Amino acid sequence: MAGWGRALRGTSEVARPRWRDELPAAVAAAAAHPGRALAMGLARSYGDSGLNFGGAAVDMTALDRVHAFDAETGVIRADAGLSLDGLIRLALPRGWFPPVVPGTKFVTLGGAVANDVHGKNHHRAGTFGAHVRRLSLRRTDGTVHEPAAGDPLFAATVGGMGLTGVIEWVELQLEPVAGAFLEVEDIPIGSLADFFALSSESEASHAQTVAWIDCTRTGRGVGRGIFTRANWSQRPDRPLHRAPRLAVPIDAPGFTVNPLTLRAFNAAYYGLRRMNAGKAERHYDPVTFPLDAVRGWNRIYGPAGFHQHQCVVPPAAAPEAMAELLNEIGRSGEGSFLVVLKTFGDRPSPGLMSFPMPGTTLAIDFRNRGEATLKLLERLDAIVRAAGGRLYPAKDGRMSGAMLAAGYPNLDSFRAHLDPGLSSAFWRRVQP
Ligand SMILES: Cc1cc2nc3c(=O)[nH]c(=O)nc-3n(C[C@H](O)[C@H](O)[C@H](O)COP(=O)(O)OP(=O)(O)OC[C@H]3O[C@@H](n4cnc5c(N)ncnc54)[C@H](O)[C@@H]3O)c2cc1C
Repeated sequence: MAGWGRALRGTSEVARPRWRDELPAAVAAAAAHPGRALAMGLARSYGDSGLNFGGAAVDMTALDRVHAFDAETGVIRADAGLSLDGLIRLALPRGWFPPVVPGTKFVTLGGAVANDVHGKNHHRAGTFGAHVRRLSLRRTDGTVHEPAAGDPLFAATVGGMGLTGVIEWVELQLEPVAGAFLEVEDIPIGSLADFFALSSESEASHAQTVAWIDCTRTGRGVGRGIFTRANWSQRPDRPLHRAPRLAVPIDAPGFTVNPLTLRAFNAAYYGLRRMNAGKAERHYDPVTFPLDAVRGWNRIYGPAGFHQHQCVVPPAAAPEAMAELLNEIGRSGEGSFLVVLKTFGDRPSPGLMSFPMPGTTLAIDFRNRGEATLKLLERLDAIVRAAGGRLYPAKDGRMSGAMLAAGYPNLDSFRAHLDPGLSSAFWRRVQP
């Protein structure tokens, strides 16, 4: 098995319970494995934080039933294996939407809690965990706990990377929406200064903000891109998203993504989006989940896969650190078409190990070219660390234990809540 980036591969013994009453035995058997156990969702984490190579795994995706849904209040309680795809199909026709969504709808509730995921509305809504009221957690000693927001075990489990227990169900407050459409505005930007100015201007007026950046630019051209801001439209129609219609059926040759194609693609993409910039009403699917349109898009980087580097840097250090990061990437000739820049707001994350904190986040994919890529990523780590920032474990397959410890001041408090029957490849790698 592999993470979404496909750069790291290994094997695990996987159990897939289909009924709720099969879960206790599946968890107990998995935890008895010498390599211990880990719950798995839809494996949309990029590196190894969702994988337990050499151990056991409990695939939660068949446990996807809804226990209760109140269409008046928008409170839903469902099995942790329910995907956001499934949740939207149920809730949107009734006027509700998940309060926070990542860039793909193919993640489970359990995965969204365990990484305390964020979306384009972070500056308003905070993280996914901020909307979870209560959850059920099965520990490998057979005990079951139902921590609510504010409880210490809740804080350890939200963003806890599956290491505090197996989440059985999640109770979530959904967001009311009039329909399925967003009023979207695309604004070309020529520099990082433009990004920061537009970002702070849009925080009060727009529920969603994000920028695509051309990572091939250096010097004065750094930060060229397209800033997108959006609000839910009042248009009442509620057509649902459809299944992906395109697919990448085989691995593209690794050389497809190279400095030449990258420059050409980014210039053409920028030109096209600039030409079509302005305001439009669009369905949530292409705006919120653009990559979901192509099934298996992660194969475009070739058989060796790719790494993603996602950091967040505090506000005061962000302008300088983002320029340094983008210059380093531009000079390297590496990087990709997928570069996202976004400002996080100051709503506190409920998890001890939640990634989001106030500041600016940059996420970028790099084709896996072995040692050269790892060296570049280490140079980026050094910039993030010097700026007082941190990396996102959900996107990581290679950060050091020192990097994790430097970015996560609650690491020791988190350790107190670990379930000794659980582990992951990521967790073993970052131990001191
Ligand atoms: C195209 C794309 C875009 C993305 N965009 C964003 C984004 O904008 N923001 C963001 O925050 N993330 C983003 N992500 C990352 C993704 O949201 C997270 O990695 C998410 O946690 C994946 O959920 P999953 O169901 O696939 O879980 P997995 O990847 O399978 O597992 C993730 C973690 O959850 C744990 N877990 C899963 N189920 C349970 C359970 N029932 N009990 C306990 N632990 C469990 C696992 O042990 C693991 O630690 C993106 C990923 C992709 C592929």
